[in-house]
Amino acid sequence: MRRRRTAIFFLVFGICLSALAIALNVGWILLNLREVVVLVLGIIFFAVIITGLILNTIFLLREIRRNEQQDAFLNAVTHELRTPIASIKLYLETLRSRAVDEKKQHEFYDTMLSDTDRLMHTVDQVLSASRIRTERKKPAAEEVSVNALVTEAVDIVRSRYNLSESVFRVAEAKEDVRVAGDAEELRTAFVNLLDNAVKYSGDDPKVAIRIRLSSLRSRVLVFIRDNGIGIAPHELRRIFKRFYRVSDGPGKKTKGSGLGLFLVRTIIKRHGGHVWAESKGTGRGATLRVQLPVI
Ligand code: ADP
Repeated sequence: MRRRRTAIFFLVFGICLSALAIALNVGWILLNLREVVVLVLGIIFFAVIITGLILNTIFLLREIRRNEQQDAFLNAVTHELRTPIASIKLYLETLRSRAVDEKKQHEFYDTMLSDTDRLMHTVDQVLSASRIRTERKKPAAEEVSVNALVTEAVDIVRSRYNLSESVFRVAEAKEDVRVAGDAEELRTAFVNLLDNAVKYSGDDPKVAIRIRLSSLRSRVLVFIRDNGIGIAPHELRRIFKRFYRVSDGPGKKTKGSGLGLFLVRTIIKRHGGHVWAESKGTGRGATLRVQLPVI
């Protein structure tokens, strides 16, 4: 809130200074109409000052917005770390303080294991995002089968959310399409896309995945379509930015750090590909489309 007020203050301040500079500029022109050299010099100086002021204001606002996003990210990640730790602690305390029958014990262990998975996922996400940002090396050039990659990613997400077989429908490419790259990085990218498709799809997710070769057979296209909350047109590009999260409506709180799609975009770019989001709008599902060069 304080930061927003500061941002508004600097915005108004910047606009007022620019207006003042423009007024002085116009005054200067009127006063010096006859002295051409002074007039031209004055106009140039004022133009420089105005440009500087505008650039300064834009820079300041960007910095403030980035700071806000980093704060939101820290809050989200801390929450993502705290919730499973609190849950594991509770189960351990229960196990220590009273006799629990064997069946219940197994249930507790399963829940603790899935909490640990969630913790690992968050930590991995943060580590990968910071590593990949500074990574200069090209990714490894293993031969990776896209059909197999997508199947693995589906299995990981299915077991992460305990989903039934019917949630994912995969239409594989007829031939065994292969791309060159780092299998682990590519798996991370597809897991993130499928995870989002489920996470942003409410109680009855239906995710259709289609893999096909481009008409020139030089690229493979993977379409991941969900029936979820959809994405507003003005957010379609922004969602790939680091820390960017679309704010939830009142009463809704999806978990996340805003790193998932940033990782996806960075990984796919490193492999010479592209990723886009498409959606007919809020509430109308989304399609994430990945394109990669084939071997
Ligand atoms: P996170 O999921 O951790 O918030 P991401 O970088 O994975 O971060 O996604 C950024 C934002 O993009 C999300 O906050 C969400 O609003 C939006 N988004 C991503 N995938 C989908 C999807 N399949 N359907 C609707 N919105 C999505």
